[in-house]
This record gives sequence, structure tokens and C-alpha cells, in this order.
Amino acid sequence: MLNHVDVVIVGAGLSGLAAGWELRKHGRSFAILEAQNRIGGRILTVTHQDSTIDLGAQWISPFQPRIQSLLKFFEIKTIPSYKEGKIIYDLHNKRMLGSNTSPPVSPQGMLDLFLTRKKIDQLTQLIKKEGLVHSPLMREYDALTMDSWIERQMFSKYGKAFFRIFSEELSSLELSEFSFLDMLWFIQSAGGLEQIVTAEDMWIMNGAQTLPLQMAKMMQDHIHLDQPVRKIEWSDHGATVHTDSMCWTSKKVIVAVPPAFSAKIQYNPPLPALREQLCQRVGQGSIIKSVLVYNTPFWREDGLSGSSYYDCGPIRATMDSTTPGEPHGVLTALIGGKYARSLGRLSKEARRKEMIACIAHLFGSKALEPIRVYEKDWAEDSWARGGYAAHFATGVISEYGTALTDPVGPIHWAGTETANEWRLYMEGAIQSGERAAKETLN
Ligand SMILES: Cc1cc2nc3c(=O)[nH]c(=O)nc-3n(C[C@H](O)[C@H](O)[C@H](O)COP(=O)(O)OP(=O)(O)OC[C@H]3O[C@@H](n4cnc5c(N)ncnc54)[C@H](O)[C@@H]3O)c2cc1C
Repeated sequence: MLNHVDVVIVGAGLSGLAAGWELRKHGRSFAILEAQNRIGGRILTVTHQDSTIDLGAQWISPFQPRIQSLLKFFEIKTIPSYKEGKIIYDLHNKRMLGSNTSPPVSPQGMLDLFLTRKKIDQLTQLIKKEGLVHSPLMREYDALTMDSWIERQMFSKYGKAFFRIFSEELSSLELSEFSFLDMLWFIQSAGGLEQIVTAEDMWIMNGAQTLPLQMAKMMQDHIHLDQPVRKIEWSDHGATVHTDSMCWTSKKVIVAVPPAFSAKIQYNPPLPALREQLCQRVGQGSIIKSVLVYNTPFWREDGLSGSSYYDCGPIRATMDSTTPGEPHGVLTALIGGKYARSLGRLSKEARRKEMIACIAHLFGSKALEPIRVYEKDWAEDSWARGGYAAHFATGVISEYGTALTDPVGPIHWAGTETANEWRLYMEGAIQSGERAAKETLN
């Protein structure tokens, strides 16, 4: 079957949908080809007994204008994250209670964190001025892992422990796996540290997947599910995009998938070497998201917010995801980096046992008996192979970074990894899709 449109979009995650949304506004013809039989990619909401559970992306910030405006357009409501009560910090096997604004560290630790924050604020400002790739200073930071920067820069045991767990939770990787520049860029793209800490301020009522599903509904004639794109033949005049059962010709193509997945497509002629080599070096983080449902949000009665950070066990962070007005208590647990990889190798039962033991370590024996547990290991998902998103190891941004977004002939790159605002978040996915669509319009 041969079809023709102005633009073929590969992937119906939020970035592909945002690209289609933009083209639709400009009256361009387009087709979105999605490998799976569902919309949303790394956004996945499951429904069980009238409750909705987000197993992928969930939280948003009030400072994310694009997603906020789409939610307003579709009249989708949000729920503020529950912040009353204390946060558990279990660092170096010492249990402490604190709040978001003041982690329970010594005055020396507070000074350490204050200076770190100041330094990061200065450096993110500098990225804006000097750019990422051509600045000699940024190259120096790209040569350091996040881990080694913390070791060099920070001086207090608990200041370091707090900043480490914060960075691990943000990245879903070990801190030795990505460069300090990668983290700086991530923070800078969110508008700085002050804004990035608002990324979990609210969540989407009835599940985050409501948004991509609503967008898809308005573009349903353009979307083709179960169509993994296998091959793109291209020239300066256009492209032919092949799936197993379809063939589309177009003037432009937007590839809206993570970089590692863009490399699974065969290109004829082949892509420039820099782009290929970039994709050889960019993999996803490791994350298992678990959602535990209890009879009541018992932690609230104990004066706890449900948020916790733990640096000696599999669960790095938890959050309260209880829907207001519902009787059940819902705790979301994030297992990242090396723990996601080791727990991912266990049987489902053994993994659940370890996880519940860890939750009980944090919240006490009442946590031992959830009434339901949901979980998703994103590395096992054939069309994600990890999450939350891709980070760059040392040297990659400096040497290969330009190939991330440089179009190749008629092919343009989207996906949250290519965003320069709120990169790696849902907001970044939308921004990248809009940007790629605008490139094709130009
Ligand atoms: C566990 C988890 C928790 C997260 N939490 C948050 C959060 O709270 N807040 C937040 O903002 N972000 C969060 N994120 C990140 C967020 O999910 C992503 O930033 C965003 O969804 C990425 O969208 P995307 O369109 O760029 O990519 P994807 O969602 O990965 O979409 C790419 C799509 O392309 C398809 N595809 C791949 N290859 C092909 C091919 N060859 N042919 C056709 N289709 C193809 C895939 O099936 C997929 O549907 C989380 C992610 C995970 C995994």
C-alpha cells in the first residue's frame, strides 16, 4: 500500500503527537506511524476497579507551559501532590525526618548544599551564555562524571548523601554513568534548580495517558498503530518510509523516538557517521515503577507525607499518589539504576518480597500488607528498553551533541531527549515535537 503525505511522523509518544498537533494547526497532511498497539510510549495508565494507576510518566510542574495549556484545552484536571507531613530521609542507614525545603542535615551539610546550589545556578546561567558544545569550560565538565563532581565539589557526608540521592532519583542511573554536564544541561533546560524541584508538584487526574489519548482522538485518521517503521529511504527531495505492511512517501519525516530507537531503523543512504556514533552511545536509564495500594494512607496518620529517599536499599524514592476522596492509600515507589537492574533479574515474587520489605523498612509494619501491587520494569518494555530517558556519558555531549538535533536531508529528530526546554520530561517531549514540526514547515 503506497500513500503520500507532507510529513510522516515515527512514534505516537507525546513528542510525535505534539508534532502532529502542530502540523494539524498549519493544515499540513501527515501520518503518525506507531510500532505498538497503543498510544503514549513512556506514558502508560492502567485502570483497575475504577482507579487509575500511572506506571510511566505521572507528575508535572506548574512551570511547564505547553503541557499546562494542552490540559486546559482538553479540560483535564490536575491533582496537587500531597505535601503535608514529614519526608523520610534514610541516608547512610540513618533515618531522619525533614521537609522539602530543609533536609535534616547539619549546619555544615546545609552550607555544603547551599554552595552546591549556588555553583549549579551559576553554571546553568553560563550554559545559556556560552552554549553547551563549544565552551571549553563545559567540555571540562563533560569530562567529569556526576559522581566525581560531587566528590570534588562537596565536603560534608550528609550534604553529599542528600545531593546524591536527589540526582539519582532525577536520573534513574548511577552517578558514574553520566557526565556532570549532562546533569547541568538537564537542570538548565528546566529553568534551574528552583524550577526542577517543582517537577512533581501535581499529577494528572485519571492518569497521564488521558492527554495523549485525547490528542490522538482528534487526530485519529492520521494515526496507524502496529506499524513499526523498519526503513527510511531518503534524498534531498523527500523520503519513503516502510513498515511491514505500509509504505509512505513524504516531503519530510519526523523521527520522534529515543535516539537508541532511531538507530534501529535502517536508513538508505546511511546516516552521517556522527549521528550513527551518537546513537551508539546513548542508552536509556533503568527504572522500575511500583504502585502499592493500601486500605488507607496510613502514613498520613503517622505524620508522614509518603515521600521518602533511601540510599541503602532498592527503593530510592516514594511518593503519595492517593486520589483525594478515595478511601485507599496509594504509594508510588521508584527503583532506579543498579537496583532496577538487579531486581529486574529476580522473579516477580522475589522482587515483590524485596520491595515490600524495603517499604516496610521505611514506613513500618503497616506497609507489609498492600492490597494490590502494580509494577512495570521499563527495561523489559520492547519499545522503551528503559527509562525515564536517555542520559549522556562523559564526553558524548561535547563530541557528538550537535548530531542530536541536526536534520539529515528531509529527516528531523524529535523526542524528549532532543528538547531544550524541560528535556527528558513530558513537557520536553511536547517542546521537541513542536520544534521538529516547525523545522519541517520552514
Ligand atoms: C517510569 C517513568 C516515569 C516517568 N515519570 C515522569 C514524570 O513523572 N513526569 C514527566 O514529565 N516525565 C516522566 N517520565 C518521562 C516521560 O515519560 C518522557 O519524557 C516522555 O513520555 C517521552 O515522550 P517521547 O514521545 O519523547 O518518547 P516515547 O514516549 O518513548 O515515545 C516514542 C514512541 O515511538 C514508538 N517507536 C519507537 N520506535 C519506533 C519505530 N521504529 N516505529 C514506530 N514507532 C516507534 C514507541 O513505541 C513509542 O510509542 C517518566 C518515564 C518513565 C519511564
